[in-house]
Amino acid sequence: MIKVAKFGGSSVASAEQFRKVRSIVASDPDRAFVVVSAAGKRFSADNKLTDLLLLVNAHIEYHVDCSSLLKDIEERFVQIARELGLKYPIAQKFEEFSSVVQSLSPEYVVSRGEWFTAQLMAEYLGKPFLDAADVIVFHHDGTLDLERTQMRLREAVQRLGSFVLPGFYGATVDGTIRLFQRGGGDITGAILARCIDANLYENWTDVSGFLSADPRVVKSPRTIHRITFDEMRELSYMGASVLQEEAIFPVREVGIPIQIKNTNQPEKRGTIIRESAEEGASEHLITGIAGKKDFLAVHVQKAHMSTEVGFVRRALSIFERYYVSVEHIPTGVDSFGVVVSSADVKDSIYSIVNDLRGELKPDSINVVDKLALISVVGRNMSRRAGTSGRVFGALGEEGINIRMITQSSQEISIILGVNNEDFERAINVIYDRFVENEMAILGEGATPGQGGE
Ligand code: ASP
Repeated sequence: MIKVAKFGGSSVASAEQFRKVRSIVASDPDRAFVVVSAAGKRFSADNKLTDLLLLVNAHIEYHVDCSSLLKDIEERFVQIARELGLKYPIAQKFEEFSSVVQSLSPEYVVSRGEWFTAQLMAEYLGKPFLDAADVIVFHHDGTLDLERTQMRLREAVQRLGSFVLPGFYGATVDGTIRLFQRGGGDITGAILARCIDANLYENWTDVSGFLSADPRVVKSPRTIHRITFDEMRELSYMGASVLQEEAIFPVREVGIPIQIKNTNQPEKRGTIIRESAEEGASEHLITGIAGKKDFLAVHVQKAHMSTEVGFVRRALSIFERYYVSVEHIPTGVDSFGVVVSSADVKDSIYSIVNDLRGELKPDSINVVDKLALISVVGRNMSRRAGTSGRVFGALGEEGINIRMITQSSQEISIILGVNNEDFERAINVIYDRFVENEMAILGEGATPGQGGE
Protein backbone atom coordinates (compact mmCIF):
# COMPACT_ATOMS: atom_id res chain seq x y z
CA MET A 1 0.00 0.00 0.00
CA ILE A 2 1.39 3.41 -0.96
CA LYS A 3 0.35 6.43 1.07
CA VAL A 4 1.17 10.07 0.51
CA ALA A 5 1.09 11.96 3.80
CA LYS A 6 0.79 15.72 3.44
CA PHE A 7 1.28 17.84 6.55
CA GLY A 8 -0.11 21.37 6.59
CA GLY A 9 1.50 24.47 8.08
CA SER A 10 0.18 24.07 11.62
CA SER A 11 1.40 20.44 11.66
CA VAL A 12 5.00 21.59 11.11
CA ALA A 13 4.90 24.90 13.00
CA SER A 14 7.29 23.96 15.82
CA ALA A 15 9.62 21.28 17.16
CA GLU A 16 6.72 19.86 19.13
CA GLN A 17 4.68 19.50 15.93
CA PHE A 18 7.66 17.90 14.15
CA ARG A 19 7.70 15.26 16.89
CA LYS A 20 4.03 14.47 16.27
CA VAL A 21 4.71 14.17 12.56
CA ARG A 22 7.56 11.77 13.20
CA SER A 23 5.48 9.50 15.37
CA ILE A 24 2.64 9.53 12.82
CA VAL A 25 5.01 8.66 9.97
CA ALA A 26 6.83 6.03 12.03
CA SER A 27 3.59 4.34 13.06
CA ASP A 28 2.84 3.26 9.47
CA PRO A 29 5.55 2.03 7.10
CA ASP A 30 3.23 2.78 4.16
CA ARG A 31 3.75 6.49 4.79
CA ALA A 32 6.86 6.60 2.64
CA PHE A 33 6.16 9.86 0.84
CA VAL A 34 5.76 13.00 2.89
CA VAL A 35 4.81 16.47 1.65
CA VAL A 36 5.13 19.50 3.91
CA SER A 37 3.87 23.06 3.90
CA ALA A 38 5.97 25.90 5.28
CA ALA A 39 5.89 26.18 9.08
CA GLY A 40 2.58 27.84 9.94
CA LYS A 41 1.05 29.39 13.05
CA ARG A 42 1.95 28.03 16.48
CA PHE A 43 -0.86 30.02 18.13
CA SER A 44 -3.62 32.12 16.64
CA ALA A 45 -1.76 35.45 16.70
CA ASP A 46 1.38 33.89 15.23
CA ASN A 47 2.56 34.36 11.63
CA LYS A 48 2.83 31.78 8.89
CA LEU A 49 6.28 31.77 7.34
CA THR A 50 4.70 32.10 3.90
CA ASP A 51 3.07 35.36 4.98
CA LEU A 52 6.37 36.63 6.38
CA LEU A 53 8.16 35.77 3.14
CA LEU A 54 5.49 37.61 1.16
CA LEU A 55 6.19 40.54 3.44
CA VAL A 56 9.89 40.25 2.62
CA ASN A 57 8.97 40.62 -1.05
CA ALA A 58 6.87 43.68 -0.30
CA HIS A 59 9.79 45.25 1.60
CA ILE A 60 12.10 44.60 -1.32
CA GLU A 61 9.63 46.02 -3.81
CA TYR A 62 9.34 49.25 -1.83
CA HIS A 63 13.07 49.37 -1.01
CA VAL A 64 12.50 49.01 2.71
CA ASP A 65 15.07 47.22 4.84
CA CYS A 66 13.88 43.72 5.71
CA SER A 67 16.87 42.38 7.64
CA SER A 68 15.05 42.10 10.96
CA LEU A 69 12.13 40.33 9.28
CA LEU A 70 14.57 37.84 7.74
CA LYS A 71 16.14 37.35 11.16
CA ASP A 72 12.70 36.51 12.61
CA ILE A 73 12.13 33.90 9.93
CA GLU A 74 15.60 32.46 10.45
CA GLU A 75 14.93 32.24 14.18
CA ARG A 76 11.81 30.15 13.60
CA PHE A 77 13.85 27.58 11.68
CA VAL A 78 16.81 27.74 14.03
CA GLN A 79 14.59 27.10 17.02
CA ILE A 80 13.08 23.97 15.45
CA ALA A 81 16.51 22.65 14.43
CA ARG A 82 18.00 23.41 17.85
CA GLU A 83 15.20 21.80 19.83
CA LEU A 84 15.35 18.67 17.70
CA GLY A 85 19.15 18.54 17.65
CA LEU A 86 19.34 18.61 13.84
CA LYS A 87 22.68 18.86 12.06
CA TYR A 88 21.46 20.71 8.96
CA PRO A 89 23.36 24.06 9.01
CA ILE A 90 20.15 26.06 8.96
CA ALA A 91 21.56 29.38 10.19
CA GLN A 92 24.34 29.34 7.61
CA LYS A 93 22.05 28.28 4.76
CA PHE A 94 19.43 30.83 5.67
CA GLU A 95 22.00 33.60 5.86
CA GLU A 96 23.30 32.66 2.43
CA PHE A 97 19.74 33.03 1.18
CA SER A 98 19.24 36.34 3.05
CA SER A 99 22.42 37.83 1.63
CA VAL A 100 21.16 37.50 -1.96
CA VAL A 101 17.45 37.88 -1.31
CA GLN A 102 17.26 41.16 -3.26
CA SER A 103 18.31 39.43 -6.45
CA LEU A 104 15.86 36.54 -6.21
CA SER A 105 12.44 36.29 -7.83
CA PRO A 106 9.43 36.79 -5.51
CA GLU A 107 8.30 33.21 -6.18
CA TYR A 108 11.70 31.86 -5.26
CA VAL A 109 11.70 33.83 -2.00
CA VAL A 110 8.25 32.56 -0.99
CA SER A 111 9.10 28.97 -1.91
CA ARG A 112 11.89 28.91 0.67
CA GLY A 113 9.28 28.51 3.41
CA GLU A 114 8.53 24.97 2.30
CA TRP A 115 12.09 24.35 1.09
CA PHE A 116 13.71 24.91 4.49
CA THR A 117 10.84 23.26 6.38
CA ALA A 118 11.26 20.17 4.19
CA GLN A 119 15.04 20.16 4.67
CA LEU A 120 14.58 20.00 8.43
CA MET A 121 11.79 17.45 8.22
CA ALA A 122 13.80 15.23 5.88
CA GLU A 123 16.68 15.02 8.33
CA TYR A 124 14.35 14.53 11.28
CA LEU A 125 12.48 11.68 9.58
CA GLY A 126 15.68 10.19 8.18
CA LYS A 127 14.37 10.41 4.63
CA PRO A 128 15.96 12.00 1.55
CA PHE A 129 14.94 15.57 0.65
CA LEU A 130 13.48 15.85 -2.84
CA ASP A 131 13.40 19.38 -4.24
CA ALA A 132 10.02 20.16 -5.80
CA ALA A 133 11.85 22.30 -8.39
CA ASP A 134 13.28 19.08 -9.83
CA VAL A 135 10.05 17.11 -10.05
CA ILE A 136 6.96 19.38 -10.09
CA VAL A 137 7.15 20.79 -13.60
CA PHE A 138 5.23 23.85 -14.74
CA HIS A 139 4.55 24.97 -18.30
CA HIS A 140 5.59 28.52 -19.06
CA ASP A 141 1.95 29.63 -18.83
CA GLY A 142 1.91 28.61 -15.17
CA THR A 143 -0.11 25.40 -15.59
CA LEU A 144 1.21 22.04 -14.49
CA ASP A 145 3.06 19.82 -16.94
CA LEU A 146 1.53 16.61 -15.67
CA GLU A 147 3.35 14.34 -18.09
CA ARG A 148 6.85 15.52 -17.17
CA THR A 149 5.93 15.73 -13.49
CA GLN A 150 4.74 12.15 -13.52
CA MET A 151 7.89 10.93 -15.25
CA ARG A 152 10.16 12.72 -12.80
CA LEU A 153 8.23 11.69 -9.71
CA ARG A 154 8.19 8.05 -10.75
CA GLU A 155 11.89 8.18 -11.40
CA ALA A 156 12.43 9.72 -7.92
CA VAL A 157 10.38 6.97 -6.31
CA GLN A 158 12.53 4.34 -8.02
CA ARG A 159 15.74 6.07 -7.08
CA LEU A 160 14.95 7.10 -3.48
CA GLY A 161 12.24 4.72 -2.29
CA SER A 162 10.95 7.31 0.16
CA PHE A 163 11.30 11.08 0.50
CA VAL A 164 10.17 14.42 1.91
CA LEU A 165 8.91 16.81 -0.75
CA PRO A 166 8.22 20.51 -0.12
CA GLY A 167 4.72 21.52 -1.23
CA PHE A 168 3.40 24.65 -2.93
CA TYR A 169 6.04 25.19 -5.63
CA GLY A 170 7.68 23.66 -8.65
CA ALA A 171 9.66 25.00 -11.60
CA THR A 172 9.55 25.34 -15.36
CA VAL A 173 12.00 23.23 -17.39
CA ASP A 174 14.48 26.10 -17.32
CA GLY A 175 14.42 26.07 -13.50
CA THR A 176 12.32 29.16 -12.83
CA ILE A 177 10.38 28.69 -9.58
CA ARG A 178 6.58 28.81 -9.90
CA LEU A 179 3.97 28.64 -7.15
CA PHE A 180 0.54 27.09 -6.87
CA GLN A 181 -2.19 29.23 -5.37
CA ARG A 182 -2.20 29.87 -1.59
CA GLY A 183 -2.72 26.67 0.36
CA GLY A 184 -1.15 24.88 -2.60
CA GLY A 185 0.70 22.31 -0.51
CA ASP A 186 -2.52 20.30 -0.77
CA ILE A 187 -2.21 20.43 -4.55
CA THR A 188 1.37 19.11 -4.45
CA GLY A 189 0.23 16.23 -2.24
CA ALA A 190 -2.60 15.37 -4.63
CA ILE A 191 -0.33 15.49 -7.67
CA LEU A 192 2.24 13.29 -6.02
CA ALA A 193 -0.41 10.76 -4.97
CA ARG A 194 -1.75 10.65 -8.52
CA CYS A 195 1.59 10.43 -10.27
CA ILE A 196 2.89 7.56 -8.19
CA ASP A 197 -0.43 5.65 -8.08
CA ALA A 198 -0.82 5.97 -4.33
CA ASN A 199 -3.64 4.04 -2.70
CA LEU A 200 -4.43 6.85 -0.29
CA TYR A 201 -3.78 10.57 -0.04
CA GLU A 202 -3.60 11.55 3.63
CA ASN A 203 -4.06 15.21 4.41
CA TRP A 204 -2.89 15.93 7.97
CA THR A 205 -4.19 19.16 9.42
CA ASP A 206 -5.42 20.64 12.70
CA VAL A 207 -9.03 19.51 12.58
CA SER A 208 -10.42 16.00 12.92
CA GLY A 209 -12.16 16.04 9.56
CA PHE A 210 -15.18 17.75 8.07
CA LEU A 211 -17.97 18.73 10.36
CA SER A 212 -21.58 17.97 9.55
CA ALA A 213 -22.52 21.62 10.18
CA ASP A 214 -20.85 24.96 10.78
CA PRO A 215 -19.70 25.02 14.45
CA ARG A 216 -20.56 28.72 14.60
CA VAL A 217 -24.19 27.77 13.99
CA VAL A 218 -24.52 24.33 15.58
CA LYS A 219 -22.91 23.50 18.92
CA SER A 220 -20.28 20.72 18.58
CA PRO A 221 -21.47 19.23 15.31
CA ARG A 222 -20.57 15.66 14.55
CA THR A 223 -17.60 14.84 12.33
CA ILE A 224 -18.44 13.31 8.97
CA HIS A 225 -16.49 10.06 8.75
CA ARG A 226 -17.33 9.17 5.16
CA ILE A 227 -18.25 11.55 2.39
CA THR A 228 -18.33 11.35 -1.38
CA PHE A 229 -16.62 13.87 -3.66
CA ASP A 230 -20.04 15.01 -4.93
CA GLU A 231 -21.38 15.58 -1.43
CA MET A 232 -18.29 17.52 -0.55
CA ARG A 233 -18.70 19.68 -3.59
CA GLU A 234 -22.29 20.50 -2.62
CA LEU A 235 -21.25 21.37 0.92
CA SER A 236 -18.26 23.46 -0.09
CA TYR A 237 -20.29 25.33 -2.69
CA MET A 238 -22.55 26.37 0.15
CA GLY A 239 -19.67 27.69 2.19
CA ALA A 240 -18.41 24.74 4.23
CA SER A 241 -14.65 25.07 4.20
CA VAL A 242 -13.09 22.04 2.60
CA LEU A 243 -10.18 21.26 0.32
CA GLN A 244 -9.86 23.40 -2.76
CA GLU A 245 -11.00 21.96 -6.06
CA GLU A 246 -7.43 21.94 -7.45
CA ALA A 247 -6.36 19.69 -4.60
CA ILE A 248 -9.17 17.27 -5.29
CA PHE A 249 -9.38 16.62 -9.00
CA PRO A 250 -5.88 15.11 -9.51
CA VAL A 251 -6.77 12.27 -7.14
CA ARG A 252 -10.48 12.13 -7.85
CA GLU A 253 -9.90 11.57 -11.56
CA VAL A 254 -7.99 8.38 -10.83
CA GLY A 255 -10.08 7.19 -7.90
CA ILE A 256 -7.64 7.75 -5.04
CA PRO A 257 -9.45 8.47 -1.75
CA ILE A 258 -8.45 11.41 0.45
CA GLN A 259 -8.25 10.97 4.19
CA ILE A 260 -8.36 14.08 6.38
CA LYS A 261 -6.64 13.51 9.72
CA ASN A 262 -5.68 15.62 12.73
CA THR A 263 -1.96 15.76 13.55
CA ASN A 264 -2.86 16.75 17.12
CA GLN A 265 -5.31 13.88 17.58
CA PRO A 266 -4.13 11.14 15.25
CA GLU A 267 -6.30 8.54 16.96
CA LYS A 268 -9.49 10.18 15.64
CA ARG A 269 -10.96 8.63 12.52
CA GLY A 270 -11.04 11.85 10.53
CA THR A 271 -12.93 12.00 7.26
CA ILE A 272 -12.47 9.81 4.22
CA ILE A 273 -13.54 11.23 0.86
CA ARG A 274 -14.21 8.76 -1.95
CA GLU A 275 -16.03 8.57 -5.23
CA SER A 276 -18.75 6.49 -3.62
CA ALA A 277 -19.23 5.51 -0.02
CA GLU A 278 -20.39 2.07 0.98
CA GLU A 279 -24.11 1.83 1.26
CA GLY A 280 -25.92 0.21 4.11
CA ALA A 281 -28.38 0.62 6.89
CA SER A 282 -25.70 2.03 9.17
CA GLU A 283 -25.16 4.93 6.81
CA HIS A 284 -26.28 8.37 7.85
CA LEU A 285 -29.25 9.75 6.02
CA ILE A 286 -27.90 13.27 6.00
CA THR A 287 -24.19 13.79 5.62
CA GLY A 288 -24.01 17.48 6.29
CA ILE A 289 -25.80 20.81 6.26
CA ALA A 290 -24.36 24.03 4.95
CA GLY A 291 -25.78 27.34 3.94
CA LYS A 292 -25.34 30.99 3.18
CA LYS A 293 -27.33 34.13 3.75
CA ASP A 294 -28.19 37.06 1.52
CA PHE A 295 -29.72 35.73 -1.63
CA LEU A 296 -32.53 37.17 -3.66
CA ALA A 297 -35.13 35.31 -5.71
CA VAL A 298 -37.03 36.75 -8.64
CA HIS A 299 -40.20 34.76 -9.25
CA VAL A 300 -41.74 35.04 -12.68
CA GLN A 301 -45.22 33.75 -13.35
CA LYS A 302 -47.03 33.49 -16.67
CA ALA A 303 -49.97 31.31 -17.65
CA HIS A 304 -49.01 28.66 -20.25
CA MET A 305 -45.37 29.61 -19.96
CA SER A 306 -44.45 25.93 -20.17
CA THR A 307 -45.55 25.86 -23.80
CA GLU A 308 -43.74 29.05 -24.77
CA VAL A 309 -40.44 28.01 -26.35
CA GLY A 310 -37.38 29.87 -25.10
CA PHE A 311 -39.13 31.62 -22.21
CA VAL A 312 -36.67 30.63 -19.50
CA ARG A 313 -33.71 31.16 -21.79
CA ARG A 314 -34.81 34.71 -22.53
CA ALA A 315 -35.22 35.38 -18.83
CA LEU A 316 -31.75 34.05 -18.08
CA SER A 317 -30.19 36.05 -20.86
CA ILE A 318 -31.41 39.20 -19.09
CA PHE A 319 -29.44 38.20 -16.00
CA GLU A 320 -26.45 37.47 -18.21
CA ARG A 321 -26.73 40.94 -19.70
CA TYR A 322 -26.06 42.36 -16.24
CA TYR A 323 -23.21 39.88 -15.56
CA VAL A 324 -25.15 38.22 -12.77
CA SER A 325 -24.42 34.59 -12.13
CA VAL A 326 -27.47 32.48 -11.38
CA GLU A 327 -27.34 30.12 -8.39
CA HIS A 328 -30.57 28.18 -8.71
CA ILE A 329 -33.66 28.05 -10.89
CA PRO A 330 -36.55 26.47 -9.02
CA THR A 331 -39.35 25.80 -11.52
CA GLY A 332 -43.07 25.17 -11.50
CA VAL A 333 -45.44 24.56 -14.41
CA ASP A 334 -46.28 28.18 -15.07
CA SER A 335 -43.64 29.88 -12.99
CA PHE A 336 -39.99 29.79 -12.17
CA GLY A 337 -37.63 31.57 -9.87
CA VAL A 338 -34.14 32.85 -10.42
CA VAL A 339 -32.00 32.87 -7.32
CA VAL A 340 -28.95 35.12 -7.24
CA SER A 341 -26.68 36.50 -4.59
CA SER A 342 -28.05 39.84 -3.32
CA ALA A 343 -24.66 41.50 -3.61
CA ASP A 344 -24.49 40.63 -7.32
CA VAL A 345 -27.70 42.51 -8.15
CA LYS A 346 -27.31 45.40 -5.70
CA ASP A 347 -27.18 47.97 -8.48
CA SER A 348 -29.03 46.16 -11.24
CA ILE A 349 -32.14 44.57 -9.73
CA TYR A 350 -34.52 47.35 -10.85
CA SER A 351 -33.21 47.25 -14.39
CA ILE A 352 -33.41 43.46 -14.46
CA VAL A 353 -37.03 43.44 -13.29
CA ASN A 354 -37.81 46.15 -15.79
CA ASP A 355 -36.30 44.18 -18.66
CA LEU A 356 -38.06 40.99 -17.55
CA ARG A 357 -41.39 42.86 -17.56
CA GLY A 358 -40.79 44.47 -20.92
CA GLU A 359 -39.39 41.47 -22.74
CA LEU A 360 -41.32 38.55 -21.24
CA LYS A 361 -44.66 40.19 -20.49
CA PRO A 362 -45.24 37.94 -17.49
CA ASP A 363 -48.46 37.90 -15.45
CA SER A 364 -46.50 38.71 -12.32
CA ILE A 365 -42.99 39.19 -11.03
CA ASN A 366 -42.16 39.18 -7.40
CA VAL A 367 -38.83 39.68 -5.71
CA VAL A 368 -38.01 37.94 -2.44
CA ASP A 369 -35.06 39.51 -0.70
CA LYS A 370 -33.04 38.56 2.41
CA LEU A 371 -33.21 34.90 1.57
CA ALA A 372 -30.89 32.34 3.12
CA LEU A 373 -30.18 29.09 1.31
CA ILE A 374 -29.62 25.89 3.22
CA SER A 375 -28.30 22.82 1.52
CA VAL A 376 -29.11 19.50 3.17
CA VAL A 377 -26.71 16.99 1.67
CA GLY A 378 -26.86 13.21 1.83
CA ARG A 379 -26.10 10.55 -0.75
CA ASN A 380 -28.60 8.24 0.95
CA MET A 381 -31.55 10.60 0.78
CA SER A 382 -32.59 9.51 -2.69
CA ARG A 383 -32.95 5.92 -1.51
CA ARG A 384 -35.28 6.79 1.32
CA ALA A 385 -38.69 8.05 0.37
CA GLY A 386 -40.14 11.02 2.13
CA THR A 387 -36.95 12.64 3.38
CA SER A 388 -37.71 16.05 2.00
CA GLY A 389 -41.24 15.89 3.33
CA ARG A 390 -39.90 15.19 6.80
CA VAL A 391 -37.43 18.05 6.59
CA PHE A 392 -40.17 20.45 5.50
CA GLY A 393 -42.47 19.10 8.20
CA ALA A 394 -39.88 19.64 10.91
CA LEU A 395 -39.34 23.24 9.85
CA GLY A 396 -43.09 23.82 9.64
CA GLU A 397 -43.60 22.56 13.18
CA GLU A 398 -41.08 25.11 14.36
CA GLY A 399 -42.91 27.87 12.52
CA ILE A 400 -40.14 28.37 9.98
CA ASN A 401 -41.47 29.53 6.66
CA ILE A 402 -39.87 27.85 3.63
CA ARG A 403 -39.66 30.38 0.82
CA MET A 404 -38.16 28.14 -1.83
CA ILE A 405 -37.28 24.51 -2.47
CA THR A 406 -35.04 22.89 -5.08
CA GLN A 407 -33.22 19.62 -5.38
CA SER A 408 -29.86 18.89 -6.98
CA SER A 409 -30.05 16.84 -10.13
CA GLN A 410 -28.34 13.80 -8.64
CA GLU A 411 -30.75 13.96 -5.71
CA ILE A 412 -27.96 14.22 -3.19
CA SER A 413 -29.11 17.51 -1.80
CA ILE A 414 -32.22 19.50 -1.05
CA ILE A 415 -31.84 23.25 -1.13
CA LEU A 416 -34.20 25.29 0.98
CA GLY A 417 -34.71 29.02 1.01
CA VAL A 418 -35.70 30.58 4.33
CA ASN A 419 -35.68 34.15 5.60
CA ASN A 420 -32.23 35.34 6.66
CA GLU A 421 -33.43 35.68 10.24
CA ASP A 422 -34.52 32.01 10.36
CA PHE A 423 -31.19 30.73 9.03
CA GLU A 424 -29.51 29.61 12.26
CA ARG A 425 -32.71 28.22 13.75
CA ALA A 426 -33.56 26.26 10.62
CA ILE A 427 -30.11 24.66 10.49
CA ASN A 428 -30.36 23.71 14.14
CA VAL A 429 -33.81 22.17 13.68
CA ILE A 430 -32.61 20.05 10.76
CA TYR A 431 -29.41 19.14 12.56
CA ASP A 432 -31.16 18.12 15.78
CA ARG A 433 -33.78 16.01 14.10
CA PHE A 434 -31.87 14.42 11.28
CA VAL A 435 -28.22 14.33 12.25
CA GLU A 436 -28.01 14.32 16.03
CA ASN A 437 -31.10 12.19 16.64
CA GLU A 438 -31.30 10.30 13.43
CA MET A 439 -32.60 7.17 15.17
CA ALA A 440 -35.98 8.84 14.95
CA ILE A 441 -36.03 8.84 11.19
CA LEU A 442 -34.05 5.81 10.13
CA GLY A 443 -37.13 3.67 10.51
CA GLU A 444 -37.61 0.15 11.70
CA GLY A 445 -34.84 -2.36 11.39
CA ALA A 446 -32.23 0.26 10.68
CA THR A 447 -29.20 0.69 12.85
CA PRO A 448 -28.09 4.22 13.48
CA GLY A 449 -24.71 5.31 12.19
CA GLN A 450 -21.73 5.73 14.45
CA GLY A 451 -21.97 8.78 16.59
CA GLY A 452 -19.58 11.68 16.41
CA GLU A 453 -16.32 12.21 18.13
N1 ASP B 1 2.60 27.74 2.55
C1 ASP B 1 1.62 27.97 1.55
C2 ASP B 1 0.55 28.90 2.08
O1 ASP B 1 0.59 29.32 3.23
C3 ASP B 1 1.07 26.72 0.99
C4 ASP B 1 0.44 25.78 1.99
O2 ASP B 1 0.50 26.01 3.18
O3 ASP B 1 -0.13 24.78 1.57
O4 ASP B 1 -0.33 29.25 1.35
